[in-house]
Amino acid sequence: MMVKTQLLSFRRFCALLASVLLLLLLSGCGGASPHVRTGFAFDTVVSITYYDNKDSGAVTKVMDRLEYYEKIFSRTDPESELYAVNARLAEAAEQGLYNVSVPLSADLYRALHLALDYAEITEGAFDPTLGKLLELYDFGGTEHTVPTEAQREDILSHCGWQKLETAEVSRAGDVSAYPYQLTVADPQIVIDLGGMAKGYIADRLKEELKAEGVSSAIINLGGNLLVIGSKPDGKPYAIGVLKPEAGSSENLATFRITDASAVTSGSYQRFFEQDGVTYHHILDPATGLPAESGLKSVTVVAKSSAVADILSTSFFVMGEAKAGAFWENCTDIDVYFVDEALNVNKYLHE
Ligand code: AMP
Ligand code: MG
Repeated sequence: MMVKTQLLSFRRFCALLASVLLLLLLSGCGGASPHVRTGFAFDTVVSITYYDNKDSGAVTKVMDRLEYYEKIFSRTDPESELYAVNARLAEAAEQGLYNVSVPLSADLYRALHLALDYAEITEGAFDPTLGKLLELYDFGGTEHTVPTEAQREDILSHCGWQKLETAEVSRAGDVSAYPYQLTVADPQIVIDLGGMAKGYIADRLKEELKAEGVSSAIINLGGNLLVIGSKPDGKPYAIGVLKPEAGSSENLATFRITDASAVTSGSYQRFFEQDGVTYHHILDPATGLPAESGLKSVTVVAKSSAVADILSTSFFVMGEAKAGAFWENCTDIDVYFVDEALNVNKYLHE
């Protein structure tokens, strides 16, 4: 696994580790003692906690898959598939081309397909085409540029999920080629899947762990949680809604889940300050500015971690009123909104 300690400040590292440890305390269960594998990926602390598999090699094997997934979904790693897709688009844009098609691996296809489905049903609150703005803000790095209004307008005129189309293609006789493709109407677009990649990967790791015979575990990708089954004693896992402050390990609420994922999006998770203004990493696709919807965080519980991840980002952008109306039409998700006064507003299907 790629070690990225240099990207984590010591304080951030301690905070992340604290949240991992807190989770373990919450999930501790009388009898069986848990095994934990911890590492770094996606610039954050990741761990798999499991109870019921004597062969720790199985979990190590699955942890090692994180590097494989990073090499698909990272927007910034020059060795990743998404980086190569964006580079091909940039090249086509330089040549003044439109409607550019690029091949996709099955994983990138599935993730993009899901992203576009949800972009449509969230009416664009979730938009995987904001990469050019994210490059400027550089939330994950140190070269922060706050785009001017004119820059935002110009960049946004080239963004938009409607300009992407995924398709399955048959290339008769060519078994080496990827069987999926993406067609981009305006190749000035830079694709970013930071709002859903960890969720998608958690779902895949779950499948891989289950195939290895693991039936009780917690996958924690930087606070993006997915639990497999229940605790060995049959009780559900207890999860906390963290106080939305950088480094906090205090819980504002707890809830219990079995075989489900809990994902939090929050303005406190990644941000920088410039000229006395705080800029956080969840952008409103309508303005190109950090979303200001009266929320500090949104936690979504769903069976699929990819869906929980997409919806927590989307709901943060929409704000509680619009997201609450969206929730009315979902039968199988729970939502915990934390507003600016730190009230936890629960939307539960009980
Ligand atoms: P999350 O922590 O899952 O809410 O995802 C935040 C990340 O998603 C950011 O760091 C960006 O990479 C990306 N992102 C920001 N705004 C949006 C948006 N409106 N739609 C989709 N992805 C976004
Ligand atoms: Mg998300």
